[in-house]
Amino acid sequence: MKTTFLPRPRIAVSACLLGLPVRFDGGHKQDRFVKDRLSKVADLIPLCPEQLAGMPTPRPTIQLRETPDGVRLVQSNDPSIDHTERMQAVAEAQARRLDGRIAGLIVQRKSPSCGMERVPVSRGKGVPALRTGVGMFVQHFSRQCPLVPIEEEGRLNDPVLRENFLERVYAYDRWLHLDPEDVSAFIAFHASHKLNLLARGTDAYRALGRIVAGVTRSTLAERRAAYIPLFMETLARKVRRGSHVNVLQHVMGYFKQQLGPQDKAELLAVFESYRREETPLSTPLVLIDHHLRQHPNDYLQAQHYLQPYPGELALRAQV
Ligand code: SF4
Repeated sequence: MKTTFLPRPRIAVSACLLGLPVRFDGGHKQDRFVKDRLSKVADLIPLCPEQLAGMPTPRPTIQLRETPDGVRLVQSNDPSIDHTERMQAVAEAQARRLDGRIAGLIVQRKSPSCGMERVPVSRGKGVPALRTGVGMFVQHFSRQCPLVPIEEEGRLNDPVLRENFLERVYAYDRWLHLDPEDVSAFIAFHASHKLNLLARGTDAYRALGRIVAGVTRSTLAERRAAYIPLFMETLARKVRRGSHVNVLQHVMGYFKQQLGPQDKAELLAVFESYRREETPLSTPLVLIDHHLRQHPNDYLQAQHYLQPYPGELALRAQV
């Protein structure tokens, strides 16, 4: 399989997840997957929005709080100390600094600054908090940089979400490295992600294909602007096992004429075993890799589906 990769993607990470002592109590929340495994294949940029907003460490805790003026970011023991505007300014400044430079953002869950979803929103003493908040930093950062894949460290413990996040990060990194004036590179980008897109359904693949079709130098900027939001939105869809099996069968179609009956039967049996959840996705892919080495195929070897990120992450051994 193809093993060439663009430079390591840059991923911004809540600094406490990297083991830096930046939390309100001077501690950290080091995450082993991020610190030990992801750091081997990506450049991680630590980011602590609360420190960037000028808060000291240690510091009083802060919280999201429901008010007549909407949800505000305030000091827990004194809601008159309001950090909302300062945190919004930090998010906007970081968005200007990082947009186009990072291919992903990993944040600490439940944080009133960094949390991505279900962050507690206080409604005052004696009233249960709502779990509907989004950290003030992430809320404003994602508005400025809607294409950047964002994931929480807790959700990254789910193998399917983790695999999907890394697939999006590496795809977006490839996009960031495309020459924005190169028509052929744009067409090749779409072609080389065909199987990633087909795994999410033919509708989005066709819709993206219509955006690419007939692109010229004069329409390139407008087509690119229409293409990438839909591309990233499509990649964020969860892929079911049955859809992976359809793609694997499609891949097999490219070299099945060269296979003997035994090899064909073995491949189909492995696909079915994956469908029945008896083996992980890596099992049929290893077998396909074996056949592709025997019968090289340029088209398939250009497909990022077969190796969407460095194999050493071994994420498909768990999905
Ligand atoms: S969760 Fe975010 S704001 Fe809080 S310590 Fe970690 S990086 Fe800083």
